[in-house]
Amino acid sequence: MSIKQQLKSMQEQLEPHVTLVAVSKTKPEADIMEAYETGQRCFGENKVQDLVTKYENLPKDIEWHFIGHLQTNKIKYIASFVSLIHAVDSVKLLNKIQSEAVKHKRIIPCLLQAKVALEDTKFGLPVEEIEAILAMRDQYPNVLFKGIMGMATNTKDVEQVVSEFEKLKSLFDKYKSQDFNELSMGMSGDWPLAIKQGSTMIRVGSTIFGTRNYK
Ligand SMILES: *Cc1c(COP(=O)(O)O)cnc(C)c1O
Repeated sequence: MSIKQQLKSMQEQLEPHVTLVAVSKTKPEADIMEAYETGQRCFGENKVQDLVTKYENLPKDIEWHFIGHLQTNKIKYIASFVSLIHAVDSVKLLNKIQSEAVKHKRIIPCLLQAKVALEDTKFGLPVEEIEAILAMRDQYPNVLFKGIMGMATNTKDVEQVVSEFEKLKSLFDKYKSQDFNELSMGMSGDWPLAIKQGSTMIRVGSTIFGTRNYK
């Protein structure tokens, strides 16, 4: 299926309360434009340099989401335009986002990444640390805490994945409010299940754009 066909079929299956972030990392600008032509406006990247280049070259009504691990020394390159930072995984990063947001006179929407998966390669904060951060959110007037992001273990064990999604959902529900209203969970392999478990935002790459070739 072409990018357009794949996207249209996904968009048709999604209820309006679920946002689709098309994960275009490693993919050329032409692929993004093909998706853009279906009406898709929300794209996710996980490398700062790629995000900056694509932002500069592509239409300005695209909402750019940063989805991967973000290094503190690189926030400055995306602080002026990023729509949502999905994976805040340390207080150090949060402090830096706050100071860059002040410099750019804006409020930067962020999600806190919760660590629920079994693999130790996954970044993220333990639930208790997320609760500690949310208790001090007044210290971050230029950060808009939008919700929780998480990744389930990459496994065929559906029960395992469901239990991890449930942990994310219950953490999210505890703090849910008018502003704190996004639960980013679900990727190509598990998004239908994630939506069943209460996801409001799915991050889908390979199903839309095909498998990625890493250099
Ligand atoms: C790459 C990536 C995705 C998309 O993965 P697919 O399996 O290709 O859909 C989602 N979230 C994060 C954080 C990623 O790095």
